[in-house]
Amino acid sequence: MDKDSKTLIFGGSGLLGSAVKRVLYTKGLENVLAPRSKEVNLLEKAEVKKYLNKEKPEYIFMTAGLVGGIVGNSTRPADFLYENSMMILNLLESAREVSPNSKILYTGSNCIYPKENPQPIKEGRLMAGKLEDTNKGYAVAKILGVVGCELYRKQYGLDVICAMPTNLYGLNDNYDLENGHMIAGLIKKFLLAKEKGKEIILWGTGNPIREALYSEDCADALVYLMENYSSDEIVNIGPGFHYSIKEFAEIIGREIGIDSKIKWDSSKPDGTFEKRTDIERLKSIYPDFKPRSFIEGLRNILSNEKEVKKILS
Ligand code: GDP
Repeated sequence: MDKDSKTLIFGGSGLLGSAVKRVLYTKGLENVLAPRSKEVNLLEKAEVKKYLNKEKPEYIFMTAGLVGGIVGNSTRPADFLYENSMMILNLLESAREVSPNSKILYTGSNCIYPKENPQPIKEGRLMAGKLEDTNKGYAVAKILGVVGCELYRKQYGLDVICAMPTNLYGLNDNYDLENGHMIAGLIKKFLLAKEKGKEIILWGTGNPIREALYSEDCADALVYLMENYSSDEIVNIGPGFHYSIKEFAEIIGREIGIDSKIKWDSSKPDGTFEKRTDIERLKSIYPDFKPRSFIEGLRNILSNEKEVKKILS
């Protein structure tokens, strides 16, 4: 990628897409397009096709999607299925019709692997077993997307690659307590306890194991793959460390400076017990990949006044 490469990000206002935008700007790219859904609605193929026909970007980062944490996913499974399926199919079909030379990077997710896995989870586990009930709609749609990329590469020769990020957090996250992801939810709950004296009620038992990858580290890996990788083999992206939800809560509580007692709401689901990502494939492609520690990422967020204000609003 050079500074004039026309690069399109779908989902550029979200957690990961906005991080990709920052990484591209840091690399000096000057021709980055990030249309909002008002401008290009990915659920409408005609709009996607028209836009690609006009712009014919050299690179496309497909980070758009309907996303949510465990409760959002389990209460709106049909919406997650429909929207995420349509978005990637509209993009692939439009690209092959009017912009077949665009290189496309599609982001799957490590939560689309089966419910039960030998840990850490290798890429070969895709479609190797039954899915987790709490996110079946999202997982089926994303699996369709990943397989779609493989098949459009095979039949039409599109240069499409797929990355599978683990649980993400970072600036510009979704801090909605019902629909957001775990790290964002925990940060918000501890900040609300500190600033407004609210009780800290976390979900499930606190025993499940999760990873936490800072959004810009994930974006850095995506940009590297875009520049250096072309294959139908999917690539996991993870931080190489993990904690239980209880441990995440302890770290966040300590950093925010509050040690109120946590209540665990067992009416909320635990979800998959353990999700750890095997990143051997990524390391073989990108040996210098160096994701930051959780403390470092957390401090970046907590020291950003604008972000903290947004979290508390
Ligand atoms: P998942 O990794 O796809 O399951 O989704 P999440 O990022 O939403 O993480 C869910 C895990 O964190 C489950 O074990 C939840 O019970 C637990 N958890 C604890 N408190 C919270 C919270 O406030 N928000 C969210 N989203 N999850 C929480």
